[in-house]
Formats: sequence, C-alpha cells, structure tokens
Amino acid sequence: MIVVVGSLALDSVKTPLGSAEAVLGGSGAYFALAARIFAPVSLVAVVGRDFPDQHLALLAQHGVDVAAVERADGESFRWGGEYASDLNQRTTLFTHLNVLASFQPKLSERLRSARQLFLANIDPDLQRDVLDQVRGPELVACDTMNYWIASKRDALVRTLERVQICVLNDSEARELAGEANLWRAADAILTLGPEIVVIKKGEHGAILASRGERFTSPAYPLEMVYDPTGAGDSFAGGFIGYLAAESAAAEGSNRSGRAELPSSAVLRRAVVYGTVAASFSVERFSVDGLVGLTRADLDRRAEELLGHARWDHAAVQ
Ligand code: AMP
Repeated sequence: MIVVVGSLALDSVKTPLGSAEAVLGGSGAYFALAARIFAPVSLVAVVGRDFPDQHLALLAQHGVDVAAVERADGESFRWGGEYASDLNQRTTLFTHLNVLASFQPKLSERLRSARQLFLANIDPDLQRDVLDQVRGPELVACDTMNYWIASKRDALVRTLERVQICVLNDSEARELAGEANLWRAADAILTLGPEIVVIKKGEHGAILASRGERFTSPAYPLEMVYDPTGAGDSFAGGFIGYLAAESAAAEGSNRSGRAELPSSAVLRRAVVYGTVAASFSVERFSVDGLVGLTRADLDRRAEELLGHARWDHAAVQ
C-alpha cells in the first residue's frame, strides 16, 4: 500500500487554451489518481467545509482510499496559476493555505504500515509529521515546490535528510541547489540526503541521477497541452506507483528480502511510466486526464515512447 500526504485543492488555472475556476486539484489528488493505476493508495489530506463532496466521491470511485481525508472548519486550500505560451513558465497568482495551515495529520494503525510513503508537495513540517508516524516503510520519496523552498528551506532540508528519492521540477531543483546546471543541481541535492534525484523538465522530459548513474528520458510527444497543472504530481504518481507494483511482483515471486532500492532497470522504467502518466494528465483540465486511465493505456504510451527514443548506435559510427 502506498500512503501519500499532499494537498487537496480548489485550483483556478489559466492556460493559453482555456481556464478553469475552483476545480479539483492539489498534489495529493493528482498523485493518488495516477498511482492507483498500479497499487492501492491511501490519501492523507485536509479539506475545508467548502470542498465539494463530489470531489472526494470521484477519488473514491477511482479506488483512492480517502478515509484519512479530514474535513476541518474553515476554507479549503486554494491555489491559482497562469501559464504563458511557453507552458514551462508558470506564474503563481495566489496560494491560500487556509485549513492546510493548521493541519495535524493522525495516521490510523493501518496507514502506519505503508510500504511506500510519498510526501507530496506540502508543508515540509507536515511531511515529517507523517514520516514519523509510519513504521519501517520500504521506500520514502518526496516532492516540493518553490513556495516551500523559499519560505521553509530549513524544514525542507530536514525532510530531505530522511528520504531516499526526491522528485522535483527543473526550476525547483535550480532554486534548491543554487545551481543552474541540472546535473550539478541533482548532485548538490544528493548531498542533502536522497540517494536518487529525479528532475522533471516539462516538455523536455526527465532525468534521474544517483551517485553512480545518470539517466535521461524524453517527454511523450504531445501536440496539444491544455493544462500542465499537476504534471509533476502525476509524474510522481506514475513513478512511485510503478515502483510499488514492481515491489509487489518481486515479493510474489519470493525474491524480496531486506528492503533495498529498486534496480537501475526498474528505476528507468519508472521514469518512463511517470512521463506517460504526466502526458495524460496535461491533455485535460484539472484531474480529468487521469480519470478512467488504465494500465493498458500507460503501457501503450510507454512502448511508443521507447520507439521514439530508440536509435541504432552502430549506424552512426
Ligand atoms: P504541479 O503542477 O505538479 O507543480 O502541481 C500543481 C498542484 O500543486 C496544484 O493542483 C496546486 O493546488 C498544488 N499546490 C500549489 N502550491 C502548493 C503548495 N504551496 N503546497 C501544496 N500544494 C500546492
């Protein structure tokens, strides 16, 4: 079981192809809807009195366990963003933390035994609160955002010390590391604690770095992108979901023992599955691109992406 702590939001988004007002968003929603394609997911989050029941019903209908979503007195977390014609450039218009500011997650016994724990983009103190409550997870990974890098850097560094994998986007990696070059930024983040860093580059794909390895994947070639919001969280959902499914399969064939990091081959495939999950997410507004997606849909795009990226090395020599 994957446990994710993240935001549940009412997002207002403007892109060159349209806009959406107070729609379902948040790092937890995107992550969970992508990850549930691979493995059971429980979402730890808070919403306010204004959060429509239908949003929680939609998550539940798609197999996301929302029993640990708390409804607090006050307004829900709200975020607004606008994209330029270069969709890699986003301006945050507002961030209203509202009920997120006083959230104190309490995990049930069942959730404390999570195998994979994903600390999605949320206050880094909350990320560690949840991490403290989970007993011996096989894998802990996190994401973050410029908002937290700027406002709670020390707390974020304390989270990074305790995770194995950090997934973040290119501008966040540059800001966190103080390095313009992404490989150097990844290496700098590796010195903060994680053993693996994955950096997403929007339409330019994603890279993975560990101390001994570098891997690069192109993005799935899309001609129309409607709403890039949540691409990073959907990537993380596909990536961690794939790792969880592989871990369960390895256990089924009795190869598992002590928890160790996934092999390089599995990590690389996970990057590809993260990439294709994000490609579906950005084709529609809000979480609509993830709703109804199946493993077969992801397998098809993963296979296609492989076709786009493969070349015959011998022929160039
Ligand atoms: P992404 O496009 O993957 O970076 O994620 C965008 C999502 O993150 C949106 O749905 C927002 O509601 C959510 N979000 C934006 N700012 C924050 C924040 N400071 N903390 C938690 N979630 C946020």
